[in-house]
Amino acid sequence: MKVAVIGGGIGGAELIRVATPGPLKFTLIEPKRQIEMQALYPEYLGGVARLQELTAPLKPFCERTGTIHVQEKALRLEGNTVVCEKSRVPFDCAVIATGAEQNYFGIKGVENTFSINTLEETKKARRFVEDMNPERIMIMGSGLTGVEAASILAESLDASIYIIEARERVLPLFSPQTSALVEKALSKKGVNILTSTMVCEIKKDCIMFADGTCLDCDMAIWTAGVKPSKFVQDLDLPKKNGWILVDEFLRAKDNIFAIGDAAWIEINGRLATKTGLEAERHAKHTAENLVRLAEGRPMEKYAIRASTDNQVALISLGSDCAVGVVGKMCIGAPTRLIYSLKSWIDKSFIKRFK
Ligand SMILES: Cc1cc2nc3c(=O)[nH]c(=O)nc-3n(C[C@H](O)[C@H](O)[C@H](O)COP(=O)(O)OP(=O)(O)OC[C@H]3O[C@@H](n4cnc5c(N)ncnc54)[C@H](O)[C@@H]3O)c2cc1C
Repeated sequence: MKVAVIGGGIGGAELIRVATPGPLKFTLIEPKRQIEMQALYPEYLGGVARLQELTAPLKPFCERTGTIHVQEKALRLEGNTVVCEKSRVPFDCAVIATGAEQNYFGIKGVENTFSINTLEETKKARRFVEDMNPERIMIMGSGLTGVEAASILAESLDASIYIIEARERVLPLFSPQTSALVEKALSKKGVNILTSTMVCEIKKDCIMFADGTCLDCDMAIWTAGVKPSKFVQDLDLPKKNGWILVDEFLRAKDNIFAIGDAAWIEINGRLATKTGLEAERHAKHTAENLVRLAEGRPMEKYAIRASTDNQVALISLGSDCAVGVVGKMCIGAPTRLIYSLKSWIDKSFIKRFK
C-alpha cells in the first residue's frame, strides 16, 4: 500500500519510523532536509541546546526506512495524488502532518518581531541576541512557548525580560494552580509579568498597548497563537476553525488522515492539545491503523491523552527547573529532576532518527 506522508516533523517522521519495516511503501513530502524538534527551540534561543541536539538529517532516516523523500512543498490534493511544487505523488492513503503556523491575529508591526515557531526564525532570534545584546526583551504570549522562552532568557542574559499576556494569568489554558506556580517561578527568575495587557502594535523600539500606553523594547518575540497553514486552509476537506476535522480514526475522509497540529481532534467531548506528546501518539496510532488496513484488518479508535480540559505537559522554566502537569494536578514545586526528564525526553526523541 502506497502511503504519502505530507510533513516530516514530529508526527510525520514518527509515523514512518513506527511503521517500518512493514507492508507500507512511504513517500515523505517535506521541503526541509531534516527533522526538527520544536520543544528544544527555547533552549536553543537561550544558548543552552546545540543545533545538532534538535535536528536529525532526513536522508539517512529515509534510506534506512526505504522511504522516498520528495523535498518539496505539497500544494494541493487532486483525487489520490499529492500535487507538489515540481512532482506529483500518487497514493493509496495520505497522511497530512503539516503542523501549524504562527498566528499574528492581524496585529500591526509584525515585521518588527521575532518568532520561535520554526528553526529558521529561532536561529534569526538567537543571532540577534548574540549580536545586539538586547537589554529589554518583550515576549508576547504566555503559553508553553512564551513561558519557556522567558525563563531561559532571564536565566542566560543580563537583560530585562517581560512576558505580556492578554488574558488574566499566564498559561491561561492550564489550571489556575499551574499558572500560579509558573508565575511564581518566573518572578523568582526576575521576569516581569504583565497580564490583562493587550498589545495593539509593535514598533521598532516599543510596544503599544490597547490602553494607549507603551513600553520601550530592544527585541520583541511573538509566541501568541498558531493557525493552520495555507496548504491546510486550501484543502477541500472537513474543517473546524480552519483545522482538518478528523473522526475517531484520525481520518478526514476515506483514505486521507490528518495528525498532529494540523488536525482538529475532538472525541467524546474532549479536544486534543496541539503538543508534541499528542502528535507522537497520533503518529503511532495511525501507523498501526495503516498496517491494519494494508492487512485487511479493521482500524482501531484513537483515545486522546492530553486534552484542553486535561492537560499533560512538562514545562521547562529555565535550565534548572520544570513543572509537570497532569490534569488539574501540578507536580510539586519546580525541580531540577523534572527539567532533566523533559530535556532527556526531547533529546531522545530526535536521537531515534539518527
Ligand atoms: C517553541 C515551541 C516549543 C514547544 N514545546 C513543546 C513541548 O515542550 N512539549 C510538547 O509536547 N510540545 C511542544 N511544542 C509543540 C510541538 O512541537 C508540536 O505540537 C509538534 O511539533 C506538532 O507536530 P506536527 O508533526 O504536527 O508538526 P511539526 O513538527 O511542526 O511538523 C510539520 C512539518 O510539516 C512540514 N510542512 C509544512 N507545510 C508543508 C507542506 N505544504 N508540504 C510539505 N511539508 C510541509 C514542515 O516543514 C514541518 O517539517 C512546542 C512548539 C514550539 C513552536
